[in-house]
Amino acid sequence: MNILIFGPPGSGKSTHSRTIMKRYSLTYIASGDIIRDEIKKESTLGLEMKKFIERGDLLPDTVINTLVLSKLRRVRENFIIDGYPRTAEQVLALENYLYDHGIKIDAAIDIYITKKESVQRISGRRICSVCGAVYHVKYNLPKIPGRCDICGGQLIQREDDRPEVAEKRYNIYINNMNPIIKFYKKQGIYVKIDGHGSINEVWERIRPLLDYIHNRERKRKTYE
Ligand SMILES: [Zn+2]
Repeated sequence: MNILIFGPPGSGKSTHSRTIMKRYSLTYIASGDIIRDEIKKESTLGLEMKKFIERGDLLPDTVINTLVLSKLRRVRENFIIDGYPRTAEQVLALENYLYDHGIKIDAAIDIYITKKESVQRISGRRICSVCGAVYHVKYNLPKIPGRCDICGGQLIQREDDRPEVAEKRYNIYINNMNPIIKFYKKQGIYVKIDGHGSINEVWERIRPLLDYIHNRERKRKTYE
């Protein structure tokens, strides 16, 4: 089973990706993690990427394609990809790769939330300035206001999580994803999931579909 997962900031897609990965024994490929790892390794490519990010520029498609597809080459099948593809160029590179290797995507899952919900979830986040633990003013309160439960450090709001920035990130995301969503709709694999409500509520909207695909695949393998 091969899955793509999308969703605006705060949609909970990384949380659901991890649940999906465990339940169906898939390899989790997150473009953000791959990029961070490469920068941490301080490889030539990593150092080059660091410059782009520090300038506030988007990473070139060719770099992201190289990183994600080389990971995919090692994994081959049974994967869930989070945060990729994000541009038309990336869709093209992925499609070429899949075609060359005879691999199909079973579902492109889009966990949708409104702008209001996205901004509320993101701007409510508080991070411990000492250990980095994550809290939320509505969903995950610390025991003592403003203090980390783990280390007692002061909780702060990240610059990136301010409402104005969160709203801007949401708008950029929606604009970028529109043509990509259209593409996967045409392919007949696009699935829109309502991302409002609790993590469990949203998961129960995703699970039946993936159970179905998973069982279908198992049956096919038994008959082969
Ligand atoms: Zn802490």
